[in-house]
This record gives sequence, C-alpha cells and structure tokens, in this order.
Amino acid sequence: MQLIKGIPVSPGVVIGRIFALDDERQKIARRAIPAAGVAAELARLDGAIKASIRELELVRDQAEKAMGAEAAKIFHFHIGMLGDKSLIGPMRAMIEKQLVVAEFAVFQTFSEWAARFRAMKDSAFTTKANDLEDLSSRVLRHLIGEHRTRLNELNHQAVVVAPDLTPSQAAGFDRGKVVAFATDLGGRTGHTSIVARALGIPAVVGCGNVTTHATDGTTVIIDGDRGVVIIDPDARQLSEYQAYIEQRKVFQLSLDELAGLESITRDGVEIELLGNIEFPQEIPLVLKCGGEGVGLYRTEFLYLTREEEPTEEEHFAAYSECVRHLAGRTLVIRTMDLGADKYTQRQQEQPERNPFLGLRSIRYCLKNLPMFKTQLRAILRASALGPLKIMFPLVTSTQELRQAKWVLREVMEDLSEEGIAYNPEVDVGMMVEVPSVAVMADTFAREVDFFSIGTNDLVQYTLAVDRTNERVASMFSPAHPAVIKLIKDVARVSRRRGVPLSCCGEAAGDPEYAILLIGLGVRTLSATAASIPPLKRLVRSVTIEECEKIARKALSLDSDVSVAAFLRDQTRKILPEAFDGRSIEERA
Ligand code: PEP
Ligand code: MG
Repeated sequence: MQLIKGIPVSPGVVIGRIFALDDERQKIARRAIPAAGVAAELARLDGAIKASIRELELVRDQAEKAMGAEAAKIFHFHIGMLGDKSLIGPMRAMIEKQLVVAEFAVFQTFSEWAARFRAMKDSAFTTKANDLEDLSSRVLRHLIGEHRTRLNELNHQAVVVAPDLTPSQAAGFDRGKVVAFATDLGGRTGHTSIVARALGIPAVVGCGNVTTHATDGTTVIIDGDRGVVIIDPDARQLSEYQAYIEQRKVFQLSLDELAGLESITRDGVEIELLGNIEFPQEIPLVLKCGGEGVGLYRTEFLYLTREEEPTEEEHFAAYSECVRHLAGRTLVIRTMDLGADKYTQRQQEQPERNPFLGLRSIRYCLKNLPMFKTQLRAILRASALGPLKIMFPLVTSTQELRQAKWVLREVMEDLSEEGIAYNPEVDVGMMVEVPSVAVMADTFAREVDFFSIGTNDLVQYTLAVDRTNERVASMFSPAHPAVIKLIKDVARVSRRRGVPLSCCGEAAGDPEYAILLIGLGVRTLSATAASIPPLKRLVRSVTIEECEKIARKALSLDSDVSVAAFLRDQTRKILPEAFDGRSIEERA
C-alpha cells in the first residue's frame, strides 16, 4: 500500500485500475539532407504545421462544445503558437542552414524552448513547457506518422497515472474510459487542472512521485475531494472507500433534492449561498446546485487561458454571458487578481523574488492603468444589461481603494462622454483578505458598498504561511484564533455600519467553518458549486443561536488545533452524514 498526498483539483472519488502513461518523448535522429532537398523539407514542415493547425481548430471547436469557450481558449493559444514566427523561424533556419530533416528541426526547437521554460522552476512556466511538448508531438505526428501514445491502447475503464498531462491530453480523454487521473507535477491553476474540473474528472495533481509506485493494472483509489492517492490499498481502506463512495452517492442524491429548497436556518434566518466561478460556463452548475447567484467571479482566468491580453470585447462577452445566465440574480465580478501564482504572459517576463508580497492584484492593476481601464469599461458596459457588483481584490490601504474608485469614476466619465450605457449606481465593494484591512474595517466600511472576506489570503497573510507551499500546508489554518478574531471584528463593523458582508474563501465551503462564520454574523457564503448543497443542508439543520454559541466557545479557545477539533465535533453532531468517510482521511 502506498498513500500519496497531492493537490485535489477536481472533486470525486474513484476506485480503479492504474493505466501508467509515461509516453517516452520521441528521440528524433539528426538526419542530413542535400542542399537541393531544402525546399522539399521546408514544404514538409509547412504542411505539418498547417495540418496541425487544422486539427487544433477541430479540437478547439469540440472543446468549446464540451467545456465552453473559456476552456477552449487553451487551443486558441496552441494555434497562435504555431503561427508564431519566433518559434517557427528557427526551425526553418535550421533546415536551411544546418541541412537537417524537418522532424529534427521541429523536435530540437520545441525541446529547447520547453527546456528553457522548465529551467525557470516556476509553475506558470512549467505549464507552458507542457504546452510546447504537446504541440511538438502533434507536429511530429504529421511529419513522421503516428507517435504511439499508450492511451490509444486503452480499451477499458482506468485511472491514468502520469508524470504530467498536457491540456490536450486531458481534453481528449475518452470519458467512458478515463475515470480519474493523478500526476506527479501540476498545480491548481495549470490548464490541465482547469480542464479536469470542467470535464468533471476526479483528479489529484502535484503528487511528487506517484508514477514511481504505479504499475499497470494495480488497484488505486483517487480521492479528488481531499487530494489523496492510495496505490494498492489494503482491505480496510478499500471497504472504507467503497462505503464512502456509496454514502457519497446517496448524500449527493439527497443533496440534489435540496437544490430547490430555501437556504434558511431552523429559526427562519436566510443565509445566502452563492457560487465561486472561474468561467461563465460554470454558472448553470452553480444554479443547479442551488446557488442563488455568483459571489465571486475570478476574472483573472480570462488572462490565464490565452496568450494575449483579452480585448475589451472579450471581457464584455464574458461579463454579459454571466449577466445572461444569471437573469437578475447576484453577480459579483472581481477585478483581475493577477500576480503571485497567477501570471500573465507579460508578468512572466519579469518574475518577482517574493510574488505573494509583490506587485499582485489591485497593485498590479493600478500600475497598469490601460489594462485595468479596459476591464472596468467592459464590466460597466455589462452593468447596463443586468445587476452586477464590482469587487476590488487585495486592497491593503485606503489610498489604494480610493485610487481604484477614482479610476472607476474616470472610466464612467469616459463612457458617459461616449454615450455608452452603464449603471452609474453600480455597487462597489472590496475583498477583506489582508490583516491591515480587517483591523481597519471601520474606516473602509465608510467607502464601500460591501465586503467579502477571502480566507485563503487572510490566513496566508495573518499567519505568514504561503498558501501554495506544501511544506507549510499543515500550518495553514482558518481555525487559527487570530483569523477568527479578525473575522469577528469585520462582522461586527459590517453589522454596525450596515455594510453587507460575505465570505468567499475556500473555508466558506466547509460546513465546519461555515457554522462558525454564521455564528460570527456572516449571512452570505460563496463557494464552489459542489460545496453549495452540503452548505444548504447545514444551514437548514441549525439555528442562529446554536451557531452563535459555537462561535462564542471557539473564540475562547487558544489554538487552531483545539478550534478545529471543536468545530468538527459540533458539526458532526449536527450533520453526521457529512462526516461519513472522514475517518478514512483521519486514519490515512
Ligand atoms: C481568497 O483569498 O480567499 C479568495 C477568495 O481569493 P483567491 O483565492 O482568488 O485569492
Ligand atoms: Mg485572495
């Protein structure tokens, strides 16, 4: 038995048999050509690139149908690369000057580019290296025939275990056969993870060494809920997980029934449940899960799935699609939160030493005003089509907030002058995700229409724990008394000043933590679509008085461990079915 922890990027639990996918990268021999053969070789290269582009256009169209326009942008990016002279030029030059076959020029050029990206040791660049290798294999296939991937041999249901997967591999999975996957490399914001979530394939990435333990046919458990891979599980683990899968199914069925019910506590207080999205296409799922709207649209994904900055029209198309899907329901559009672990192409060229404390988020926007204004114009234009709210991320000081609001007013004036419609009364709010803002919430409350607490960053900055560093992951705890105290203070300010407050960090989707948030006074929770039904069940099972009592007790405890244990204990009493199967992880 081998238990490996990784990053859960797509929920769901599967017990299956391993299909180890370690497609050896082809080694292409350096074969010489006569000078008279150059034109023919260049024609072969052009033919292979054109054929690859045609093929990618088909893949893109299929992906668009299956996953929506946003996810299909990955293939727009691939098509764009094949038209990029700085990539194709060196291949042509190699054929002309070094007199080599086209496949060698292709292999060599792509390999060099991929190696350069990989050497940068930054997940954002590594993702691009995968894209390049993916493209290299595609062009080579058109030059020298089918590069045999073992995936073609897969004729039964299996769990793919691989060092890494490219976005096109994941998008091309036969969903009747590939039931889950696990990889050594990868992170939450990698394209492959985005595709896994969009396809609903349970996945754990960033496992480090899962491939070294993986052999074909071995039984494996992929727990995409908690980021656990168990290779060759023992009888106890198997039966526990089998039971968990069954309970999950039953729980899921009963949760589906909840979708149409009100999110109201036993004593009649409404708790608004909203969805967090990265792409507009996720909205139907949020609504199906019983979400009443979108509490956080992470618009930076518009930048992360394409090579070029999105145009105003592309921004507008995304925001108006959200407004259309939501038909009058709540929509909170967060302005781009780029930087730290989410880089644009331009940012990648100037890596920072300490990016989480660097030029990220609203700071980046305020230093790149044309880019920021483009987004604000598009959001404002969409505000004429239906209700939406604008939210600024990672505000740390009043100057920053005022500057951002000033830029917004400038954009409004421009639109007015141009006679373009927008909602001048649009609500403007901010994330509360750094301690400086939580401490000064009273001051900020006078200048915004709403607050949304981002526990992911609030925990990171309060406890000085990098949220992406697996070495300190055990110290990352929203149950830390310092974090709870900050949230309590913000909730009190919001109540006193009448500023609506929500929580949209990952912790808001965890029933154990939600109970505390409700007890502290939070009345709106925004979480991923899949977390909404369990949250609704929790809401319908508690009274505000119970939650407040739990919050009071939690506030009296002095360590994150005791708070977490207490919350778990209390929630287990209220919602025992949500905990069936937890013991698996606890004992793992
Ligand atoms: C947060 O920090 O809690 C949050 C919701 O924002 P993000 O995870 O996008 O940084
Ligand atoms: Mg954040």
